[in-house]
Amino acid sequence: MGDAAPASPSPLAALLRDRIARDGPVSVAEFMAVALTHPQYGYYVRRRPLGRGGDFTTAPEVSQVFGELVGLWCLVVWQGMGRPDPVVLSELGPGRGTLMADALRACRGAEPAFLEAARLHPVEVSPALRAVQRTAIAGTCPGLAAVWHDDFASVPDGPLLLIANEFFDALPVRQLVRTEAGWCERCVGLATPSGGEPRRFAFIDVALDEPPVLPPGLAEAAPGCIVEVRPAGDALVRAIARRLRQYGGAALIIDYGHADSAPGDTLQAVRRHAYHPVLDRPGEADLTAHVDFATLAAAAREAGAMVFGPLPQGVFLGRLGAAERTRALQAHADPEQAALLGTGFRRLTHPREMGLLFKVLALSDPGGPVPPGFDLPVR
Ligand code: SAH
Repeated sequence: MGDAAPASPSPLAALLRDRIARDGPVSVAEFMAVALTHPQYGYYVRRRPLGRGGDFTTAPEVSQVFGELVGLWCLVVWQGMGRPDPVVLSELGPGRGTLMADALRACRGAEPAFLEAARLHPVEVSPALRAVQRTAIAGTCPGLAAVWHDDFASVPDGPLLLIANEFFDALPVRQLVRTEAGWCERCVGLATPSGGEPRRFAFIDVALDEPPVLPPGLAEAAPGCIVEVRPAGDALVRAIARRLRQYGGAALIIDYGHADSAPGDTLQAVRRHAYHPVLDRPGEADLTAHVDFATLAAAAREAGAMVFGPLPQGVFLGRLGAAERTRALQAHADPEQAALLGTGFRRLTHPREMGLLFKVLALSDPGGPVPPGFDLPVR
């Protein structure tokens, strides 16, 4: 697991250590925000996270079928909206741009007018990944203009189609600890060193003055439990929902997580395709926590969007025709590619792989039709 003993401390570790020594412990959410998106040393800013030579692999990197079906989902939603032109097509955290490239290619084949109407507005914190995304988009649709944003807030108004695959899991989570004496914030402090060792990061619980406002399912947590809340994710989903209500459109949020809110510590670090100690070498490992889809859905509903799902990813892709598309591609592939397509399909859809843990949530404006793959909402 992870690497052997580090040769030198990460620059971000030194920076965080100085800050904690000076100002006291930082919350888990702050630690995560700095580790992932510090403008100079943050994980997403500095490292090449994705792919075999990186730290982890995502669904669009597993099979082209994933991006194609997500693209066609957007196309069908756009058709149902009455083909608005222009339409904002925004992806949050496009990684290597693989999903967008596969989506655009599929849509170009199905209805080229969609690409004439689409205005691409990716949201991406990493300058290096922006460059990779630009190349991927240009390789598929030369001449298609795209404007990158640091934040969804600056994406222009108008009818919206939004995609977020494995984006929300990277937004900072607060960890709250229920103790016999009340609620605490789980923070990162410095352990007392033994001998001449550098001071190590350690979790410490800091009592909260006020009890936190928690959603149902979390507020009743028993003493000893950790619950996770993601204020940045809730605020973002509310902003998306307001946009959809005002201008029309739909959003597709895909991530690993749970359909119902439940206590539990899901913070994890991954480096070079293996789990890594979460506080070790911040900025050099991906740091994520599971997405609480019930809370996201409630926030979206409150802000006026219709909410569909979450569906297990395997069900969603199955309904959109992942098996049929995979077989069609296999029919024209060499044996090696055909085998890769088969294992890719299994990986994306099988309940023991990504099919069940990953969930798909759709939001739309209340006047719109039920988006492809989803059922009428039960509430
Ligand atoms: N969606 C891609 C990549 C997922 S990794 C895929 O499925 O392959 C997360 C992506 O979100 C990366 O592109 C990362 O640089 C970006 N990202 C993470 N936190 C961000 C933030 N706070 N603001 C903008 N982009 C962010």
